[in-house]
Amino acid sequence: MNWALIGASTIASQYMIAAIRAQQAGEVTWVVSGTRDRAETYARDHGIARATADLDEALRDPSVGAAYISSTNEKHEAQARAAIAAGKHVLCEKPLATSVEGAVAMVRAARDAGLVFATNHHLRCAGSHRAIREMVQGGSIGEVLSMRVFHAVHLPEHLRGWRLDNPGAGGGAILDLTVHNADTVRFILGADPQAVSGQMGVSGMGQGVEDSAMSVWTMPSGAMVMSHESFTHPFAASGLEVHGTEGSILARGVLSQDPEGEIELVNAEGRKAVPFDPHPLYPEAVRQFCAAVAGDGSPAASGLDGVRSLQIALAVRTSAQNGVRQSIQYEDIA
Ligand code: NDP
Repeated sequence: MNWALIGASTIASQYMIAAIRAQQAGEVTWVVSGTRDRAETYARDHGIARATADLDEALRDPSVGAAYISSTNEKHEAQARAAIAAGKHVLCEKPLATSVEGAVAMVRAARDAGLVFATNHHLRCAGSHRAIREMVQGGSIGEVLSMRVFHAVHLPEHLRGWRLDNPGAGGGAILDLTVHNADTVRFILGADPQAVSGQMGVSGMGQGVEDSAMSVWTMPSGAMVMSHESFTHPFAASGLEVHGTEGSILARGVLSQDPEGEIELVNAEGRKAVPFDPHPLYPEAVRQFCAAVAGDGSPAASGLDGVRSLQIALAVRTSAQNGVRQSIQYEDIA
């Protein structure tokens, strides 16, 4: 399948172009940037045949089957709607949009057009997350009491742009990282939080947006979740823990773009390392997307998954802004 990249981004150059090319007959044939010069340079650097600053020009190409959208966050909605209107399947970066209404409209438009629409929540594709989910949902730790997700990273120098100073572009740690934590919790526990209480702040990097957030969520079972995100922590390793009545799962280094980290299961029998399949994450996301386009299964993270993760993240932000616990009503968008 031929793809158009919408957004001459870092994530595409670091991971997604290779992930697309790792598929049988997978090729990137267009790159669309906000400026023609940049599109051309990017195309040259990455061996992409065609470059344009005119989104419609790429979308008019009938040989393009899918669009991968990785522009800044405020652009996703209009670009995805345009791709869907042109009959292209869409793999869109998180957060899907900057409002829940916008994200819902994207998902409904793709559904009405009979197109595959997916969210690039890559962590679901990690062997580590899949192993943890299987243990939790298979009952290995009994009834889940609580979960902690720690995603405090040190934003690399080359990404210290719009994420840190541009609220209009959807900057800030909540739209960047809380959405991933939300998807991780939903994937592993198989449930959506009913309410969240959040706090956010600036700890050295954010200018006009939060660079850090923490929140506590109430799950339908009564289990509690703690979620921590930050751009400013040089030495805090990422990880997650799920604690149950019969055991605890302790995972370190697993909120990563790469297949790395360690998992331990601790229970009455002691501690044991849990093995997992170390396949790369992004090619797996694209593989599942292409299979779904071919009528085989579903993408790793659907449009609805992207709507839900955004809704949870925005609830955390609203709670932090207002200093009030925020309950979440989920709309049925099927
Ligand atoms: P970048 O800042 O690299 O790219 C975003 C946009 O910024 C590009 O589309 C491009 O605009 C512009 N841009 C980038 N570099 C330059 C430059 N050197 N000079 C001028 N303009 C530039 O963002 P990311 O790749 O980090 O993120 C893009 C999207 O992907 C976001 O939605 C983010 O949330 C998501 N993301 C997802 C990840 C995942 O694992 N699922 C990981 C990282 C990001 P133009 O296209 O107009 O040229």
